[in-house]
Amino acid sequence: MKQNAKLNIVLMGPPGAGKGTQSELLVKEYGILHISTGDMFREAIAEKTPVGLKAASYTNAGLLVPDDVVIALVKERLSKPDCAQGYLLDGFPRTIPQAEALRELTKEIGRPVQAVICLKAEPSILIERIVSRRVCPTCGASYNLLSKKPKVEGICDNCGGKLVQRKDDTRESFATRLDAYQKSTAPLIDFYKKQGILGEVDGLQDIDAVFGDIRKILERS
Ligand code: AMP
Repeated sequence: MKQNAKLNIVLMGPPGAGKGTQSELLVKEYGILHISTGDMFREAIAEKTPVGLKAASYTNAGLLVPDDVVIALVKERLSKPDCAQGYLLDGFPRTIPQAEALRELTKEIGRPVQAVICLKAEPSILIERIVSRRVCPTCGASYNLLSKKPKVEGICDNCGGKLVQRKDDTRESFATRLDAYQKSTAPLIDFYKKQGILGEVDGLQDIDAVFGDIRKILERS
């Protein structure tokens, strides 16, 4: 895959595996559209839209939002013309019904998923990453107090926004989110393996090494 080719990809992995950080790098490198369902829900909740009101109780508890709500949101987003520049789906699909819906949606718009990257990591490491994560609510950049500190404490390097901790980045919520990943999302690994489009990457390496492995997979796609 050439650097400026239009890529249509899915990034998956358990909470804290580094999806947000790798998304930022992929968007910079390939100029593709970042579609994060988690970000879309956080925005909808902050703005108290009908979708936000439906999603709030689930996201705050670390539970998956029902499939019909998520699928409708992604359907609307993928129908916009800017998807022609290529898309990176971050956090979607998370269940088999979502993956089946995505196959239909992307067929309809003539932009099938070319590669699914799965970041792999041990739960014991993930919990420490999650509780030390800080995010910028203004531009969406993600930091980590252990491994990716902002230059000025509490302030976003990109936009100067005030960094916050996500409501669901607690030890209690993490257990629920990991459980949801293992029960509902992990089956997608086989689903995409069978389609021959899955690439697995060790998410415990440092950020640049993870990105290097992702690039190698995309170059082969
Ligand atoms: P994330 O930012 O990807 O960790 O997502 C944050 C929260 O948003 C999740 O814990 C879910 O409550 C909700 N969410 C995001 N994407 C999905 C999805 N594809 N299916 C169901 N719930 C989702």
